[in-house]
Amino acid sequence: MVEKKIYEFQEPEAAAPKERETMAAKRLAGVPASGTVALSNLVSHMKSMGIDIVSFSMGEPDFVTPENIIEACKTSLDAGFTHYTPSAGIPELRKAVASKAFSDNKIHCTAKNILITPCKHAIFMSAMAFLDPGDEVILPDPSWVSYEACIRLAGAKPVYIPTKFDDNFIIDPSHISLAITPKTKMIVLNSPSNPTGSIMPCETIKEIAKIAIENDLMVLSDEIYESIIYEGNHHSIAAVPEMFDRTITISGLSKTYAMTGWRLGWAIASEKNMKELDKLQTHSISCCVSFTQPAAVEAITGPQKDKDDMVKEFKKRRDLAVDLIRDIRGLDVNVPKGAFYLFPRYDSKVKSEILCTKMLEEAHVAVTPGSAFGPCGEGFFRLSYAASEAQIIEGLSRIKRFMLSL
Ligand code: GLU
Repeated sequence: MVEKKIYEFQEPEAAAPKERETMAAKRLAGVPASGTVALSNLVSHMKSMGIDIVSFSMGEPDFVTPENIIEACKTSLDAGFTHYTPSAGIPELRKAVASKAFSDNKIHCTAKNILITPCKHAIFMSAMAFLDPGDEVILPDPSWVSYEACIRLAGAKPVYIPTKFDDNFIIDPSHISLAITPKTKMIVLNSPSNPTGSIMPCETIKEIAKIAIENDLMVLSDEIYESIIYEGNHHSIAAVPEMFDRTITISGLSKTYAMTGWRLGWAIASEKNMKELDKLQTHSISCCVSFTQPAAVEAITGPQKDKDDMVKEFKKRRDLAVDLIRDIRGLDVNVPKGAFYLFPRYDSKVKSEILCTKMLEEAHVAVTPGSAFGPCGEGFFRLSYAASEAQIIEGLSRIKRFMLSL
């Protein structure tokens, strides 16, 4: 029997009194644990109890890290490369990331602009380094769970701007303009998007850049899904003229090379901003794991066939899952152009947290409630199709029966 309330998606106000009963600092009040990670923990727990769960919860490729990358890591371990590295990362890796950013993203940067750090830590450090209490940060609704948490932990205020199913969840830049106040400091972008898979068109990015420049705002651009694109192209806002100095671009190896457990990513920033991030790195993790960094060089500069095959496989799965979802009464879904998430809308007044808890308990299928990603996510759930075709078919037939039973 599954215990209820193992994971909760609380409003900050609801969470506050409970937090204060502990000795936790006030800054933690109102910041729930990550909904995606909590759900994944719950799924692992249920599986360990022998329950046959189909999990569409975690955003992580189900492929094994390519062999050449694993070999490079073994080689560096065998060579005794097991000590601290420079805080910003080994020079070869910073250089490899800078050339990749130049050739793939058209971002004019050098190794001096690169900080090697886990992606989520880069987001956390960006909030700590550039936000003061009272600052406002504009971010799309829905968006990934940890942006809001990092903003709040820095004492700043998240200001959501709505995006709509009918617009493929693409930001309307005029909503950004409307949300700007004298306190606005930063805009958070994430294309391809988690949880919707939508990709920002180049024109939209240019309009947002214009707004950022006119209003002297920073941009935090999380581009972790940049390589998982099925139609269209990825565009980096840091490549737009005059944007580099005010943008922190974040990406990494987790999704592109199925390396989530390696915790390896990077931030690209102006030298001045990079120094602030590096300062925080020296006081937090010191540096990334040493022996994984030469393997990261191999990932970026070595053969890319495994990565390309993985993207082809994701596209097949996306198409399969979209067809199966569209065949379920009460569900509707867009065809996202990137990432590996579907964000179906369901036709019921039940809150998404309740629907997903019921789905997990009764159908043994794990999906993430849309409300975890912001108020506009209510009435939706997120399905990560980084799962085998067999799991997609089985999981969606369970969801079909479950939706009929509602
Ligand atoms: N980013 C992935 C997800 O959204 C991994 C979990 C997390 O970091 O939130 O599922």
